[in-house]
Amino acid sequence: MIIPSNLLNISKDIGPDVTLVAVSKTKPVEDIKTAYDFGQRNFGENKVQELIKKSEELPNDINWHMIGHLQRNKVKYIVPFIHLIHSVDSLRLLKEINKQAKKQLKKVNVLIQVDISNDDSKFGFSLFEINDLFEKINYDDYQNILFKGLMGMASFTSNKEIIRKQFNSLNNVFQKFKKRHSFEYLSMGMSGDYIIALECGSNMIRLGSNIFGKR
Ligand SMILES: *Cc1c(COP(=O)(O)O)cnc(C)c1O
Repeated sequence: MIIPSNLLNISKDIGPDVTLVAVSKTKPVEDIKTAYDFGQRNFGENKVQELIKKSEELPNDINWHMIGHLQRNKVKYIVPFIHLIHSVDSLRLLKEINKQAKKQLKKVNVLIQVDISNDDSKFGFSLFEINDLFEKINYDDYQNILFKGLMGMASFTSNKEIIRKQFNSLNNVFQKFKKRHSFEYLSMGMSGDYIIALECGSNMIRLGSNIFGKR
């Protein structure tokens, strides 16, 4: 069940400079349509099959965001319509996106996912690898990719200081490379920690349960 008052309040609170991605994974298209009717246009999904099915059933002025781990063999299916891939977590995936985008005569918007937590379960480049990537990157190798910024997830912990430290570390690399690489988006913050994320410089938050209720 979508909670429209939450959607409207959060949209109002964050203002026009922050993009709210409504994370609709596992939720039915009816819920997405309700949010759509309240003006929401950015939706996030973490599974390719579900993403494709929903995109076919819903209005085509929706901006679809891929926020989950993406297998290389599925890249070609989302290249035609994806608005932004948040979860580029390896060079091999980046190269595959470039290859498929080239084939389909597309340019694909991506964020590079950074592992700022110490959780084993999280994907992404380390802060060290991110530095290496953007110090040395040769855009000729990625002609069909538009690098739009960085994405990260904090640890699942109730310790706010740990979360703040992790978000700050991501904002630091974002600021370092922002001008040089024309980054636009720092995607960080979920239902439980988006207030801290905004305080730490986020301009794109990904909220699921706050908007659609528990999964
Ligand atoms: C599920 C998910 C979210 C949203 O989580 P909530 O806690 O429900 O807001 C955000 N980002 C990613 C990468 C997710 O997988």
